[in-house]
Order: sequence, then structure tokens, then C-alpha cells
Amino acid sequence: MIVILLGPPGAGKGTQAQRLQADHGLKQLSTGDMLRAAVKNETRVGRLAKEAMDAGKLVSDDLVVQIIADRIQEDDCATGFLLDGFPRTVAQAEALDVMLSDIGRKLDAVIEVTVPDSILVERVAGRYACAKCGAGYHDRFKKPAQAGVCDQCGSTDFIRRDDDNAETVRTRLDAYKKQTEPLLPYYQEKGVLLQVDGEQSIDAVARTIDEALGV
Ligand code: ADP
Ligand code: AMP
Repeated sequence: MIVILLGPPGAGKGTQAQRLQADHGLKQLSTGDMLRAAVKNETRVGRLAKEAMDAGKLVSDDLVVQIIADRIQEDDCATGFLLDGFPRTVAQAEALDVMLSDIGRKLDAVIEVTVPDSILVERVAGRYACAKCGAGYHDRFKKPAQAGVCDQCGSTDFIRRDDDNAETVRTRLDAYKKQTEPLLPYYQEKGVLLQVDGEQSIDAVARTIDEALGV
């Protein structure tokens, strides 16, 4: 199964992608995670992406399209994958159509996770992740079972993203509205768009997504 998760920063895409990967074996492909790893490792891609990411702007289409084109050909994507944070522009969506047709596969569903702007800042400001395994948490909405210890791997090291500050969130939200929202009619016309109310609890969103996908 090939699924896209769409939604503004803080909507809950990564949270649901991690869960879908754990529960249903759909490989999570997060361009944000891949780009952050590239910046950390100071690769060529990382050097090209850093300035835009720090400012909350989108990196160039060419860069992310190449990353995804290479990644979906790897063995662990053979049975299906979940795109989290890609595509984010109509040009990226068109490039994805070509990539999928080149490998003889098709998109099963696009899930738009809808959340009002007013709650996104709190979602993003309280977000943190395990530094070792990447499991995502929130100061209020998703605390580890044992304070300060990752549920998944037991690590006690956590990190917060540099771009998760109120100012950058506004730029990222603006980029979403201007550059990514045009994907909604694009996928609506293809008959693959499903909408899920992302304001519900994490577990309720999970149940709604599973029902929508029939998994
Ligand atoms: P995205 O990947 O769309 O930017 P995340 O999945 O990282 O968003 O979620 C942003 C923050 O909000 C995280 O800290 C996460 O734990 C929390 N979160 C995700 N879904 C919900 C929800 N339905 N209710 C409350 N908090 C949530
Ligand atoms: P995310 O982790 O999805 O919130 O992405 C973090 C940042 O990475 C974004 O603000 C962009 O700068 C960059 N990024 C991630 N995915 C893409 C994409 N598909 N197109 C352009 N930029 C992206």
C-alpha cells in the first residue's frame, strides 16, 4: 500500500506514521527526518537544505524529489510505504506520479489530517523526540509512561527541533497554505483524498485512519 499523509506542521503526521509503521509495517518515509539527518551529517544535501529549513521555508523541489526517487527503490519499500511530509508542492506531486508510474505502482490513498491553526503552535512548541530511536512525544499530549525514559528504547536522551519555535511555525504554516494546500484539489480530482479530523485524541485519530485505509 502507498499512502501520503498531508497536513500542516504539528497536525500529527509523524505520530500517525510511526504508529502505522509499527502496527501495519508501512515504511515511514519522512523527508523532514531525512533532511535533518543530512544537515546533522553535513552532507551535500544537508548543506543545500539547511538555510531554508532554519527559516521554515521549503527546500527546492529537485532536492527532495531526488531523495524520494532513490529511497522508494530500496528493498524495505517493496511492500508499501507511507510518505510523511512529501509531496509539499504540485511540482513534487507531479514528479511522484512519474516515479510511481516508472516503477509500475500506484498511490492508494492521501490522508489529510485537519487541525485548526489555533492549536498547531501548542502542538509544535511541546514536541520532542527520543534522541536515540526518534520516537515522538509531547509535553502535555504524549508523555512517556515513565518520566524521562523513552517507551520504545529506554533511552533517557531527548531532543527538540531547532525549527519548532513560534516564529518559524508561522512561516511553515504560511508555506503549507500557499504551496501545499493546492495538493488537496489535485488529489481530490484523482479520487484518492480522505479527510481525518486531527483534533481528536491520538488514539481516536489512529482508529479513524485505520478505518479509512481498511487496515
Ligand atoms: P507533524 O508530523 O504533522 O508535524 P507530529 O506528529 O510531530 O506532527 O505532532 C506534533 C506534536 O503534537 C507531537 O508532539 C505529538 O506528540 C503531538 N500530537 C500528535 N497528534 C496529536 C493529537 N491528536 N492530539 C494531541 N497531540 C498530538
Ligand atoms: P517536517 O519535518 O516535515 O516538518 O519538515 C521540516 C523542514 O524540512 C520543512 O520546514 C522544510 O524546510 C523541509 N522539508 C521537508 N520536506 C520537504 C518537502 N517535501 N519539500 C520541501 N521542503 C521540505
